[in-house]
Amino acid sequence: MIVSGRLVSPEKVWSAHVRIENGTIVDVGCDLGRPDVEFSQDCLIFAGMGDIHIHARDDPSERETHKEDFVTAAAAALHGGVVHVADMPNNPAAPIDDESYAAKQRHLARRNVPVQVTLYAGIGPGTRPLSQNVPYKAYMGPSVGELYFTSLEQLDKTLARYRGQSVSFHCEDPVLLEAHKGAATHEERRPPACEISATRFALQMIEKHELTGKLCHYSVGEGLPLIREARRRGLPVTCEVTPHHLFFDTTVIDDANRGLMQMNPPLRAAADRQAMLDALRDGTLDYLATDHAPHTLEEKSRGVSGQPHLDTYSAFVTWLIVEHEFSPERMAEVCALNPGRFVNPYTAPKKFGRIAPGYAGSLTVLNLNRPTTIRREGLLTKCGWSPFEGVTFPGCVEAVILDGRRV
Ligand SMILES: [Zn+2]
Repeated sequence: MIVSGRLVSPEKVWSAHVRIENGTIVDVGCDLGRPDVEFSQDCLIFAGMGDIHIHARDDPSERETHKEDFVTAAAAALHGGVVHVADMPNNPAAPIDDESYAAKQRHLARRNVPVQVTLYAGIGPGTRPLSQNVPYKAYMGPSVGELYFTSLEQLDKTLARYRGQSVSFHCEDPVLLEAHKGAATHEERRPPACEISATRFALQMIEKHELTGKLCHYSVGEGLPLIREARRRGLPVTCEVTPHHLFFDTTVIDDANRGLMQMNPPLRAAADRQAMLDALRDGTLDYLATDHAPHTLEEKSRGVSGQPHLDTYSAFVTWLIVEHEFSPERMAEVCALNPGRFVNPYTAPKKFGRIAPGYAGSLTVLNLNRPTTIRREGLLTKCGWSPFEGVTFPGCVEAVILDGRRV
């Protein structure tokens, strides 16, 4: 298959052809023959985008599949222009050792989904690294199931076993969460101080135990200097940011939407939201990762935290490009190159992140000139709602090429 149009890499935007054979890019050049698909000047062609923080809710226990499973999450991903995802381990049957991880892998294989799914393994009290190479997730505060440390000393002790591993941190200090649990609102129960304190701790752990670190869903402006300083010292740490922390802040919360606008970490002040936009632009934040956390509307009305974002991933990207003047090149970095770098150690023989020979023949094509209004009826996530319902984004997904086929 030969695709023609405006290609976007982290370095440049240029018009060229891409030839894909047997699911892999084999050539990129100015004239590779008659194109099978030609995209107009309104379109930008990115390497297939990746969302490295999702909760597909699917595991061998199938206790949460009323709100999502690998099949519906994959459909929502492709709908949002996402060709690979990384799935978090806070399942009822949490993948924390060789046996439970292999069981989740077999369960995923049975689902037979078209997108690449990388599975995180959980770090919980007493766990040890697996024998296969996988990315890890450490929760500091209360989460689903066993993956819960009541003290940071306990987490420190456990992390000592994970020297050299890739560990992603949910940065909320469990002690400070406990201290604020009587406050009136969700935001006040999880104040910025929780994230700042946890950031200090995570950076210490990354240094002390020689981890490759990633901070999840970053949301507090005051924590950014800590991250910049750690990087200046050469610490290998990268950072995610979610669509909700870039789009919403506490000023949008009212009595009618309070439940839907609840997630962890919570929405922050307007100044924090601006700081996240600036930090995504200047390179302090590395990934647009959604923390896609599907819950039914009934669950949301009972105060369950999280928002679904896979369906709207790329529409949101067009908002960053058009409304906030992010360069397409920067978007290629945060939505394709960096997510690819994160998962490539686990996805062999496939490789993601660039439009170049040897990489997966998957492309995300965005149309910046066709606005799209998000409606509930159009969503493919099983939970069936989006915090962006009624929002009109300036562009849309024009096409997704997956392993050399238009889907
Ligand atoms: Zn999450």
